[in-house]
Amino acid sequence: MLLLREFSIPFDDEKKLLYSRSRVDFEIQGSIYVECKVSTNSTQFTRAMGQVSLYKAEGKEVWIVVPDDVDVRKDQREILEKQGVQVLSETMLQEKLSGKEPLSQLSTKTTVACGVCKCCGKINVTMSRSPSNCLRSYCVSCEDEVKQRVFDGRQDRWIKVG
Ligand SMILES: [Zn+2]
Repeated sequence: MLLLREFSIPFDDEKKLLYSRSRVDFEIQGSIYVECKVSTNSTQFTRAMGQVSLYKAEGKEVWIVVPDDVDVRKDQREILEKQGVQVLSETMLQEKLSGKEPLSQLSTKTTVACGVCKCCGKINVTMSRSPSNCLRSYCVSCEDEVKQRVFDGRQDRWIKVG
């Protein structure tokens, strides 16, 4: 990675993990694993999360770097932060490596959408999502209830059958 050469920080390319056959993108300063250019699409992100737990098992600090032009979903970022993982954009990584605390902010997309549930009718509830991550028209608490209902286009509501 060019950036690291620029800063002449000692790093290992494609560092082999101790306890598994996978590799981490970079190890810097002997204690930080950096996984680069993580895409935030669900499949890739889930894979990155799996990697993270492997790195953590080795007691390393983990940074995940996403391209500058990519938005990280707020929920994804929260999951990582809960695991003590730093999520950085390329610019932020640059700032960090030059010894500054990052000034830039990671752009997060708040796609944990709140909306009006067309089943229970509550407002400001967290909406359910399909496996492909699309928002549904009902809230997370109605996921079971909705199976017993049908959608009525005229009323724009999930209504009880019979
Ligand atoms: Zn609801």
